[in-house]
Amino acid sequence: MAKSLVDDNSGSAVSCPVCGLVVAELSFLCSHLVEQAEASEERHVMWLNRHITKRRMSPDSLEPLLASFLAGEGSGSEVVKR
Ligand SMILES: [Zn+2]
Repeated sequence: MAKSLVDDNSGSAVSCPVCGLVVAELSFLCSHLVEQAEASEERHVMWLNRHITKRRMSPDSLEPLLASFLAGEGSGSEVVKR
């Protein structure tokens, strides 16, 4: 059980792609997005519809989708349209 000097998995903050809110973990970001969508916050609803899904999802089912979206975004394979 060697202790890693670099914490690359735990404690890596992520920020909301919509409003920039910084949270400690991806699961918190999922909860945030679901909460905002359920409150009918327009920007979050539109972002989810466009990038993830038009269905209402639980944070648990949203997490893998969000993870793959963020991974894809990091590779720069998709052109952001404005
Ligand atoms: Zn947000």
